Amino acid sequence: MRPAIFLDRDGTIVEECGYLDRLDKLTLFPWTVDALRLIRRAGFATVVITNQAAVGRGIIEEDFVQKVHGEIDRRLEGTGARIDRYYYCPHFAESKIERYRQECLCRKPAPGMIQQACREMDLDPARSVMVGDRWLDVACGRAAGTQAVLVKTGHGGEEAESPEDGLRADAVVNNLMEAVGWILRTMA
Ligand SMILES: [Mg+2]
Ligand SMILES: [Zn+2]
Repeated sequence: MRPAIFLDRDGTIVEECGYLDRLDKLTLFPWTVDALRLIRRAGFATVVITNQAAVGRGIIEEDFVQKVHGEIDRRLEGTGARIDRYYYCPHFAESKIERYRQECLCRKPAPGMIQQACREMDLDPARSVMVGDRWLDVACGRAAGTQAVLVKTGHGGEEAESPEDGLRADAVVNNLMEAVGWILRTMA
């Protein structure tokens, strides 16, 4: 079993822009490529874990989510950085579209996507870390048995100001690059 870094997408590896509904809104943070390369070099699998309820809400098509991930891959080509797999939750409990209308087990803070990744990719949650800009990312990691780091990019600044009762991050850091620094110091 390999260790992994599970990464939230919006506000963590790409800039938070409300709903990402056009490719020209997709902006990697300036440190994202370097951070992902360091993760890979240290032997961690790199897995994106993202809630995309905009699909269930009818704001974007599921195909478009795939397109965004294809575009991220394209921008990482030849850099030594790589995302091994993307997991996304398209569900929304009140969706007008039947196939997306469910109280699912994958929507963060539920740990379903991390658990599925661990099964499918033979990953060890106990040696892994979830990184995200919201407490629900931290809660998702906790529930799946990973370490959990909150980054202050995206919504993370506000989130850090309003901690949730009984929920603790292993580290609260400024951005993904600092998260990777913490991970390499503590886990590698
Ligand atoms: Mg986020
Ligand atoms: Zn779901």
